[in-house]
Amino acid sequence: MTADIYHLASLKEFLEKNELQAKRSLGQNFLFHKRELQKIIASADIQPNDHVLEIGSGLGHLTRMMEEAGAKVTAYEIDQRLTSLWPELYPGTKTEIRNQDFLQADPKDYSSCTKVVANLPYYIVKEIITKLISTNIPFRSLTFTLQKEEALRLAQKPGDPRYGALNAMLQILGPTECLSTIKQDNFYPRPHIDSAILKIGPITWPDPPTWAVTQQLIKTAFSQRRKQLQTSLKPLNITPEAFAQANVSPTSRPEELDPHSFLLLAQSF
Ligand code: SAM
Repeated sequence: MTADIYHLASLKEFLEKNELQAKRSLGQNFLFHKRELQKIIASADIQPNDHVLEIGSGLGHLTRMMEEAGAKVTAYEIDQRLTSLWPELYPGTKTEIRNQDFLQADPKDYSSCTKVVANLPYYIVKEIITKLISTNIPFRSLTFTLQKEEALRLAQKPGDPRYGALNAMLQILGPTECLSTIKQDNFYPRPHIDSAILKIGPITWPDPPTWAVTQQLIKTAFSQRRKQLQTSLKPLNITPEAFAQANVSPTSRPEELDPHSFLLLAQSF
């Protein structure tokens, strides 16, 4: 009989039996409660025939439930101690599990995935999201579980002091909403703070050249967020006509702009 890792006592027993200690340095907090995992699956609207890219699959708590919901899953997990337990935990799984650092993975290897779902390792949240949105794979949605503060920050709209470059990029792609909280007690080891589900989608991808310029504009503008765009964007030689065509005031600051204005500006020069 395979171990029941969806209950705290039996999860602890399983880890002890395998002499496994979660590595905090890799952001290992396993979300074991089925009801909470189900919330993620519902948020991502997982349907049969979805091909999901999962990053940081851990012991496969979420992976298995997505597979049971009918999805095909391609999963990346850096820790070989965890991936080596898969044959025992999920004999017959159809998931393709790759024992690899996702940040080093070649996007070609997951370009057929249609959605991303991940309980993210907290120490590289920005790096993972930035990689996902700059690879031009037309994912329909991105659904992440991350520290609540970080999820709330990424969902902030223009005008909030926490609103930054990544917020603008995500909000151009699609509605970016913090959907629900997952309490600390549903994870083992128990993290110091609650988590939350952040969903970006449905996504409408700009064409790749426009999207590349848009990202560059946003990064450049937010690198000097207190400056007016006419100053911070000087290195990009945007003409007054281009500003006018995009209906963007050259004296505005990046945090005041509707994120879609960056897209219009990218299309106008
Ligand atoms: N998905 C599991 C769950 O929901 O219980 C585990 C989530 S845990 C918060 C994050 C996982 O990401 C850990 O299993 C960790 O080993 C893995 N991880 C950390 N850095 C990674 C990387 N660079 N590439 C792939 N996986 C990574």
